Amino acid sequence: MFERYQFDLDAYVRRVRTGPCFVCAIVSRDPDFPDHHVFYEDDAAIAFLNGYPTQYGYTLVAPKDHREQVAGDFTLREYLRLQRVVHRVAEAVREEVGAERVYLLSLGSNEGNAHVHWHIVPLPPGTPYEEQQFAALMLERTGVLKIPEEEMESLAARLGRRMERMDFGR
Ligand SMILES: [Zn+2]
Repeated sequence: MFERYQFDLDAYVRRVRTGPCFVCAIVSRDPDFPDHHVFYEDDAAIAFLNGYPTQYGYTLVAPKDHREQVAGDFTLREYLRLQRVVHRVAEAVREEVGAERVYLLSLGSNEGNAHVHWHIVPLPPGTPYEEQQFAALMLERTGVLKIPEEEMESLAARLGRRMERMDFGR
């Protein structure tokens, strides 16, 4: 579907470890940052497309506040509120791209990418077994999908429309 390119991992690691917090930059719409295609936002959470996707529809969900401990920096209520968004975004992504499974995980490091974020990664149907699970997420292994800017915009708009139609069960 889309070609892949090899990623400049060293430059990325340098940026992550020495640059400003990328999630805070996206939340504040820092003009020095490229457009991350935010497609959902509420008082506490934001959802946007991964700029270095290993899969089509790879999305990140983060709290707007800079929190670093995935569970410990949230009250139970705040955590569950964030997970409500993760659930809805995962379903929007799954439906939009027709994923066979959806992977959900939070990684990060105190030495870079410290701001808690959840990876929502759709696995395309028919992916060979050895290219599933961690292999489907590893930039070093898969390379990055070369998705044209207009396509990223269109995908974000479609995901945004799905989010508007989602029942949040409130
Ligand atoms: Zn931050």
